[in-house]
Amino acid sequence: MLKIDMHTHIIPEKLPRFAEKFGYGDFIYLDHHRPGFARMMKGDNFFREIEANCWDPKLRIEEYAGNKTQVQVVCTIPVMFSYWAKPQDTLELSRFLNDDLAQLVADYPKHYIGLGTIPMQDTKLAIQELERCKEIGLVGIQIGSNINDLNLNEEQFFPIFQACQDLGMAVLVHPWNMMGFHSMEKYWLPWLVGMPAETSRAICSFIFGGIFERLPELRCNFAHAGGSFLPTIGRVEHGYNCRPDLVAIDNDHNPREYLGKFWVDCITHDPLLLEYILKTAGPKKVTLGSDYPFPLGDLEIGAFIEKMDLAPPQVEDIFCNNTLDWLNLDRKAFTI
Ligand SMILES: [Zn+2]
Repeated sequence: MLKIDMHTHIIPEKLPRFAEKFGYGDFIYLDHHRPGFARMMKGDNFFREIEANCWDPKLRIEEYAGNKTQVQVVCTIPVMFSYWAKPQDTLELSRFLNDDLAQLVADYPKHYIGLGTIPMQDTKLAIQELERCKEIGLVGIQIGSNINDLNLNEEQFFPIFQACQDLGMAVLVHPWNMMGFHSMEKYWLPWLVGMPAETSRAICSFIFGGIFERLPELRCNFAHAGGSFLPTIGRVEHGYNCRPDLVAIDNDHNPREYLGKFWVDCITHDPLLLEYILKTAGPKKVTLGSDYPFPLGDLEIGAFIEKMDLAPPQVEDIFCNNTLDWLNLDRKAFTI
């Protein structure tokens, strides 16, 4: 069976010293301190240790073969978004990352699909780079769940989403710049609590801000099974019903109407929750994702799904068909 992992991260092995080049800022650079390992440095601060499977395309393909997965949808690591920087500098960084992805896809077209990154903090430059992403063979973009603490329904972002719809570019919304980060750093809470909340924030912003309503052809996928959105849809709907004066001020449709209109990945680590996600998001809207190669991801690439009591066509939908629909791609591109 064709397996496409639609949520994986990759980074170029060699990154320019953008902080030195631009003269400011904690841009990420890689300290290759021993073979096969690198420290991601944020300014002078250690951010995360990564291994060669973060940048080595052949090693990744081998590791994926071990999990019977042929295709990886790759995008950058969210810490690279750099929306905080001067827009022109984020554009330059984005171009560097996107060109690297485009080269990877060109080198291994049956194994890699690319999602670019764009300077969301500047509408004009974001659309400019979005258009270029399409030209160089990327099929969509990955964006953060908020942009410098602004919610995605802010009007300045709407033309970007409109351009995504017009160009047929898919969108992956990934939690980053987590709310409450500095008040709950202990116990990895920004990742365990902040990330699911961020993704719900993004989906609610799309619904209540009327983005789905105004852009019905926009193809959006939300990471980590939509975070806490789907498990709290009852509460969200009740809020809409009991306080429309607070909730329904920009869009008067019930939030439940949007279930089945966007995609989510399957990263739940929990068969019981995934059954619920399949029922609420819709069986055609749940896609195989892993968050490879990071430890909080599902590094067995959906093995738990094969152990669930799902009909084979349902498994096939999750493993490839739903992702092909989201990205508007033909399976022949990866099977012949
Ligand atoms: Zn991720």
